Amino acid sequence: MARRCTVCDHPQREAIDKALMDSRNSIRNIARRFAISHHALGRHKKRHIPTVVAVALDKHDEALGIDILAECDRLRNAALQILEQAIKDKQGRTALAAIREARETLKMQGAMLFEAQRQRQQRDRTELTDLSGLTDEELDRLEQIARRVQLIEQP
Ligand SMILES: [Zn+2]
Repeated sequence: MARRCTVCDHPQREAIDKALMDSRNSIRNIARRFAISHHALGRHKKRHIPTVVAVALDKHDEALGIDILAECDRLRNAALQILEQAIKDKQGRTALAAIREARETLKMQGAMLFEAQRQRQQRDRTELTDLSGLTDEELDRLEQIARRVQLIEQP
């Protein structure tokens, strides 16, 4: 059975990750401090920290996306309020401008959601072939199997 990364599974992983991100620390020093092999540390830094960063970026983008959509809602609601008032005041020109504004924000929001959906689907397809979650042993094994069935073409 393939073993998981000892750093990923370490109870002090967060402290280790932070130490790894601090360029003043050498891998050897961190390895000694947390009593883990420096090979495992090097591999973890190269393979697993980028995955964590990608997830964090994703979450940040998500919050940003929600803010942008909320702003669209706010603009559209403001336009609808102006429209309502303009109808009451029988201000035809203002009413038309408000309708145009509401329509524009709706169109913009729709286009944004459409594009977000498209990108998400594309990313989901990419994730199917993402091997970054595999251990070295699993990757080696996969490569062996792939060679055997000649999926990997020799350069
Ligand atoms: Zn790891």
